[in-house]
This record gives sequence, C-alpha cells and structure tokens, in this order.
Amino acid sequence: MSINIAIDGPAGAGKSTVARRAAEKLGFIYVDTGAMYRAIALYLIRQGVAPEDKETIADRCAGADVAITYQNGEQVVSLNGENVNGLIRTDEVTRMSSAASAVPAVRARLLDLQRGLAARNNVLMDGRDIGTCILPDADVKIFLTAGTAVRAKRRFDEMIAKGDISETLESVEAKIIKRDEDDRNREISPLREAEDAVHLDTSDMTIDQAVEAVLSVCRQKGFI
Ligand code: C5P
Repeated sequence: MSINIAIDGPAGAGKSTVARRAAEKLGFIYVDTGAMYRAIALYLIRQGVAPEDKETIADRCAGADVAITYQNGEQVVSLNGENVNGLIRTDEVTRMSSAASAVPAVRARLLDLQRGLAARNNVLMDGRDIGTCILPDADVKIFLTAGTAVRAKRRFDEMIAKGDISETLESVEAKIIKRDEDDRNREISPLREAEDAVHLDTSDMTIDQAVEAVLSVCRQKGFI
C-alpha cells in the first residue's frame, strides 16, 4: 500500500515550495495538482475560450490530455504530449485555471490521474480538495495556510526576485483574495479544511520551519 499525504490550502501559502522539499526529504513523489489545472487552462486559452464561458470550457476540456512524468525528481506536466512546465505560470493562465477549476467536467478529467498517481506511489499531493475529495482516506492531511497579507508579501517578493515589477503589493493581495474567494465559494470541491486535517499556519515560519512542521506531523502520525 502506498502512503498518501494530502496538503491543501489557499493560494500563496507556500504549499508548493514546502511540499516539494518535504517530499524530497521523505523520498516521496511530489504531485502539484494546481499545475494540472493550469495545463488545462493553457489548452483553453489556446482554443480561444473565455474564462466566463463555462459551457464552452466544459465542452472543450475533453481535448486536453494532461499527463505527469518525473525528470530528475521534477514534475513535468504534459499537455497533449507537449511539456508545458514553462508556460503555465502566467497571470492569464492563473486566471483561467481558477475559472476552469469550478467546472465539473474539468475536475472530472483530472480525478483519475490524481487518484492513480496516489494509488501507485508514495505521494505528497498538494491542491485545494485533496484531503476532502481526491484522497479522503489519505494517511496524513495538512491544511497549510498563512495570513492574507503574509501570502501577498511572499508572492510579491518572489516576483521582485524574478525582476517582475509589473504589480504593486496591493494588487497582488487583491488577486490572492479574489482567487481564494472563488476557490472557497465554488459549488464543486471548494477549498475547505478537512475535519481530520492538521492546521498549520506558516505566517511566522521560515520555509525550513514549515517543512519541519510538515515532517513532524507525518512523524507524529507514525507514517515516517
Ligand atoms: O495551486 P495553483 O495556484 O497552481 O492552482 C491554480 C488554480 O487551480 C487554483 O486557483 C484553483 O482554482 C485550482 N485548483 C483546484 N484544485 C486543486 C488545485 C488547484 O481547484 N486541487
């Protein structure tokens, strides 16, 4: 039986950085489910679909085949055979992924892929609905969060470090708040803390401390 660790939480909580490092330490596969939604979003953008057009999103998403492989421990997301890792972190893709993820047909396309990876491998999977919907029987569930201002500042600092000065801290924060609201209020698989999840607020933690906190929860549960 494989061991499954689910990490959910809002945008910018540091989930992917923390989950990637924790998975590395555990020797588990890190599965970034947000990247899968982003790959479908890229497909829809290329098809010229508007984020508001839920009906066409439901219709067209059938043409997006998303697959995951690993190269040197890094998750590679393929869209219809093309490695799209470098194309899915734009603002446009972020907006579309948030809109498309509220469409049941889009979520249905990714369910088997996510559950299949967890059934075959020891995984640390991050997303919004992993503990509540995708892996309700996960061995360990963690809800990783941080205050809104802290999350916005982290995202903003990341952008500055990459030389991206296109946005103010206020606009980054406004976008994070909007995306969280949309993720929390959608009808299907909303972002929600599972009842049996351990709540980790990383507002006052460094990345190393957050990784240690995740590993410590896994230790306490007896899975590592
Ligand atoms: O985690 P990331 O920011 O890459 O996710 C992009 C979008 O994909 C999120 O805003 C959310 O709407 C959606 N998503 C989701 N369920 C997941 C992972 C991501 O709805 N398990």
